[in-house]
Amino acid sequence: MRKVTIFGSTGSIGENTVDLIKRSPEAYDIVALTGGRNVKRLAEQAIELNADIAVTAFDACYTELKDALSGYDIEVAAGADAVAEVADRPSDWVMSAIVGAAGLVPGLAALKQGKTLALANKESLVTAGPILMGEAHRYQATVLPVDSEHSAVFQALVGEDIDAVERVIITASGGAFRDWPTKDLHKATVEDACTHPNWDMGQRITIDSASLFNKAMELIETKEFFGVRPDQIEAIVHPQSLIHALVGFNDGALMAHIGPHDMRHAIGYALHWPNRGHVPVERLDLAKIAQLDFRPADPIRYPALRLAREVMDAGGHAGAIFNAAKEAAMDAFIARNIGFTRMADVVDATLSTLSGEIGSCEDMSLDSVLAVDHLARKTAQEIIAAG
Ligand code: NDP
Repeated sequence: MRKVTIFGSTGSIGENTVDLIKRSPEAYDIVALTGGRNVKRLAEQAIELNADIAVTAFDACYTELKDALSGYDIEVAAGADAVAEVADRPSDWVMSAIVGAAGLVPGLAALKQGKTLALANKESLVTAGPILMGEAHRYQATVLPVDSEHSAVFQALVGEDIDAVERVIITASGGAFRDWPTKDLHKATVEDACTHPNWDMGQRITIDSASLFNKAMELIETKEFFGVRPDQIEAIVHPQSLIHALVGFNDGALMAHIGPHDMRHAIGYALHWPNRGHVPVERLDLAKIAQLDFRPADPIRYPALRLAREVMDAGGHAGAIFNAAKEAAMDAFIARNIGFTRMADVVDATLSTLSGEIGSCEDMSLDSVLAVDHLARKTAQEIIAAG
């Protein structure tokens, strides 16, 4: 039986992971499940999967979780430290599916155990890619990408020499506003931004998909995960979202990965890796699909892509500034304090203000990343307040 821990089990990725595991309960022994405020669901999952421990990230949710699990032989804990501490419990496979920079510390803690880390939390790579990949190397842990684009690249690279790769192309659906005139984007509401044309995901990643901040993060993620140069990485709009990524080799071949809009495909790949196991996703009917469309990802319409290029070129702590400013800007957008297009302005202004803080990767430590993250959130909030 494989021992499994799921960070962020109550979220969209977490639920999809739970769904796959529930289909073969005899194969998995659930060590820990962690969630946030959705205590009811966390308790249900812990009972269904007979977890050893359930942890909510928020102290204020402790009593509710304790009450929901009273009478069951399941430990209960609360707080950010308790979330990171469950990574010390031996597991063979850990899913990192907390949303935001809060996923960084638990993910790093899991790597220290030399475990297999299925990484959905893209913010960890954007914020501290060199640390995360460095720690994985140091502790001989395996990191498997769960983002569908990076899982696609990973699969296209099996058996290939990374030196033969000329380019990596990741696709973008174009998000909720792909057909809106650029001049109308400033009017977009939170409700508009939360409607994804193809994927059913958590609220924050859906808004990031509308602004293409999600794609911007994925460009940075590609650089950090696969170690390719920024000029080798491209994004292209592909409205059907069926090809998730393509890898171009030095003989001109392009290897495309095609699959349904269902995160259980990438999660299942990581769960069964290095083998392939049955995953209950739709089988595509290519004749029915008939057509695959592509269009350029316009950096004027999508300023997040330009900002990602600046971050990749700058290196160092630029990713931590970018991610923290983006999270602060999205909080303000969700709270209806700023408009949709202002999110990119806030990130741009925060990067410009803190460009002196972009220390080199050699100077990077978890403490320096957390300090830059804190400073960038504060700076972004000041920029938002200044109007
Ligand atoms: P959700 O918002 O659906 O879920 C996030 C999870 O994190 C929930 O379990 C939530 O708990 C928990 N959580 C929230 N805040 C905290 C915190 N401060 N500390 C600890 N746990 C917290 O997100 P998604 O599942 O959509 O995304 C998870 C990650 O995977 C993100 O990094 C996202 O970018 C990435 N990803 C997601 C994809 C998708 O299809 N959804 C695709 C590719 C990548 P609760 O709900 O109980 O409050």
